[in-house]
Amino acid sequence: MPNYNLHQHSVFSDGKEEPLNYVEKAIELNFTAVGFTEHSPLPFNTPFSLKEDNIQNYIDEIDFLKKKFSNKLEIYRALEMDFVPYISEDFEYWRKACKTDYLIGSVHLVSSSKENPLWFTDGPDPDIYDQGLEEFFGGDIKKAVTTFYHQTNQMIETQEFDVIGHFDKIKMHNANRFFTDEDVWYRKLIDETIELIKSKNLIAEINTRGLYKKRCDKLFPDDYALYKLKENNIPILISSDAHKAHEINELFPQTVVYLKNIGFREMMMFSNDKWEITELN
Ligand SMILES: [Zn+2]
Ligand SMILES: [Zn+2]
Repeated sequence: MPNYNLHQHSVFSDGKEEPLNYVEKAIELNFTAVGFTEHSPLPFNTPFSLKEDNIQNYIDEIDFLKKKFSNKLEIYRALEMDFVPYISEDFEYWRKACKTDYLIGSVHLVSSSKENPLWFTDGPDPDIYDQGLEEFFGGDIKKAVTTFYHQTNQMIETQEFDVIGHFDKIKMHNANRFFTDEDVWYRKLIDETIELIKSKNLIAEINTRGLYKKRCDKLFPDDYALYKLKENNIPILISSDAHKAHEINELFPQTVVYLKNIGFREMMMFSNDKWEITELN
């Protein structure tokens, strides 16, 4: 299984523990690397993003840990970038401000129009998803999901980043109620996004969090999307999106077996400041 985790949140965003706890856990597990990916700052208040006035502390803290544990573990400072059209800054801005080693691009907040508030599609509460679907899209799931994927596509086309985070997570609170993976319109959206991922040479994250938090019965992505990634030879990165130190390798062994059965043979890792292909094992 991967002996590294490159998607995790500490108290600098919405994680529950200090960075040191994740580092100690990683060393205990004989990991080679960990990367902190706090949620990028946004120009409005959220309970989950890194605060702008805390950026220097984030830089200092990770630099301190990098140095202190340099003979035991590679430690990276990264961000999980939120893309909201016309609202979020260009990724390049925060890449420089936070001196990151790499970036994950993700959509959690969907913009239905310039006037409406943003639709929060993530988090533990399905009621927020259902209310937004009703309020901003008149209950039209096809329109809502299409807007999510088009926003994802816009992110891929306009921003520079390394990894596309949990790109079919819109299915989580759907919980097979309003659409399924079999719907032709849904498959078309997946096809379009995967084509863009390929054209930009992005790495697709395989995220185990929905499964181990029991918010979803699948990986992000899974089923049709996962087979399509394989078919298109898109490089993958397994990560746990940990918000607590003990979650850093949740479901890694099972995920490796599952992906091997689908036909994947390689995965990506970040080592010595660059992306490398390694055997899926
Ligand atoms: Zn995320
Ligand atoms: Zn995350």
